Amino acid sequence: MAEQKGLKNRGHSRADVDERRTAAEEFTGAKLETIAAYGFEPESASKNIENMIGTVQIPLGYGGPVKVHGENADGEFLIPLATTEGALVASISRGMSVINAGGGARAAVYEDYMTRAPVLRVDGIEHGRKVVEWIDANMDRIHGAVAETTSHGRLHRIDVYPNGRSLYLRCLYETGDAMGMNMATIATEAICRLLERETGAVMISVSGNMCSDKKPAAINMINGRGKTVVAEARIPKDIVESKLHTTSAAVVETNYRKNLVGSSMAGTFGANAHAANMVAAFYIATGQDPAQVVGGSMSITTCEDIDGDLYICVRMPAVEVGTVGGGTRLPCQREALSMIGCLGDGKAKKLAELVAVTVLAGELSTLAAQAAGQLGSAHAALGR
Ligand code: NAP
Repeated sequence: MAEQKGLKNRGHSRADVDERRTAAEEFTGAKLETIAAYGFEPESASKNIENMIGTVQIPLGYGGPVKVHGENADGEFLIPLATTEGALVASISRGMSVINAGGGARAAVYEDYMTRAPVLRVDGIEHGRKVVEWIDANMDRIHGAVAETTSHGRLHRIDVYPNGRSLYLRCLYETGDAMGMNMATIATEAICRLLERETGAVMISVSGNMCSDKKPAAINMINGRGKTVVAEARIPKDIVESKLHTTSAAVVETNYRKNLVGSSMAGTFGANAHAANMVAAFYIATGQDPAQVVGGSMSITTCEDIDGDLYICVRMPAVEVGTVGGGTRLPCQREALSMIGCLGDGKAKKLAELVAVTVLAGELSTLAAQAAGQLGSAHAALGR
C-alpha cells in the first residue's frame, strides 16, 4: 500500500522525503511538483514535522521600515510578514510610515511567564487541601524537579484552582528566549510525578485547559500568558489629516463604536480591528507556533484625541513567542528573524515588542481607512 510505504519511513533525508511524496502522489493521484521544490535540507525540519513530503510556500513581504523606541527593540526595522491576504502588507506599511512621521512607536514588555496547568484527581476537598499544603511546604523540591528537566526554564509560582475532586495547578515559568511550551510541559509533568509520589494525587492530564493554550480564554486576557506587551504612538494632527485623510476625532469615534462597543456587544476576547492578521503574518514568517495567533488576537486597541493629535495603543496580554526552539530552527524562519536582529539568545522580548508595534501599525491603518470610508476600495484595488 502506498500510504504504508510512506509512513514506514520516518527519516528526513531528501531521499526519504522524495520516496514518501512519490507514495503520496500514487495514493492521491495528485502531482506535487511545487511542493517538491524547496530550498533547504529537510533534516533541519526533523524536530518540526513527521511524514514530511515537501513544503508549502507562503509569499513573504516586508512592512516598514518602522522606527521603534522600545525597552528592548530600539532602531528601524523591516518586518518580515508571510501572508496570502492582499492589501495586508501595504496597510501595515502605511501604518508604519505614519508612525514614523510621528517620531516612532514606543513599546514595553510587562509580565513574561509561560503557563501549563495540569489537572490532578484528589479524593475531595480535604485531600486537595493537603496537596496544596504539601506544595507550599516543598517548593524547594518542586524547583529541584523542574531543574532536572531544563537549564533555561525556571518555575516562578503555582496558582491553585481547586474544584471538588479536581485540582488545577497553573504553573508559571520563566522560559528564557524560548516560547516555552515544550519546556513548561516537560517540567510540569515532572512536578506532577513528584506530587503523585508524595501526596497520592493522580495526574489526569498535564494540561487541564486552565493553561490555556491555543484557546481564547479570559484567564489569559486578564493574567497574561507568554509576554504581556504594550505599544503606543502619537500621530500629529497634520499627519493624520495629510497621510490618513481623516481626523483624530473620527478615528477615536471609529475605535469607540467598533472596537470597544461592537466587540463588547459581540462578546469577543479582546477589542481590536484585526490584530490576528498582523500576528499571523509575523508568526508564520518568524517560525512562531501559528496556533498561538489565538493569544495574539486578544488585543485591546485604544485611541485618544490629544489636542487634535491621535494617540493609539495596543495592549497584547498573550504574545507567546520565542527566538530559540520550535519553528525558529528552520532556515527560512531564521533568515526572517535575522532581518530584525532577533535570532537566538537574549532576543525574545525584543521580538515581542516588534509583534506589538506591527499590530499597532495594522490597527492604525485599518481604523483610519474605516474612519475615512476607504476600507472596501483599498481591498478592491489591492486584494482582488
Ligand atoms: P523547544 O525547542 O522544545 O525547547 C527550547 C530548547 O532551547 C530547550 O532545549 C532549551 O534548553 C534550549 N535553549 C537554548 N538556549 C535557550 C535560551 N536562551 N532560552 C531558552 N531556551 C534555550 O521549544 P519550546 O519553546 O519549549 O516549545 C516550543 C515548541 O512547542 C513549538 O514547536 C511549539 O509548536 C510546541 N508546542 C508544544 C506544546 C506542548 O504541549 N508540548 C504546546 C504548544 C506548542 P533547556 O530547556 O535544556 O534549558
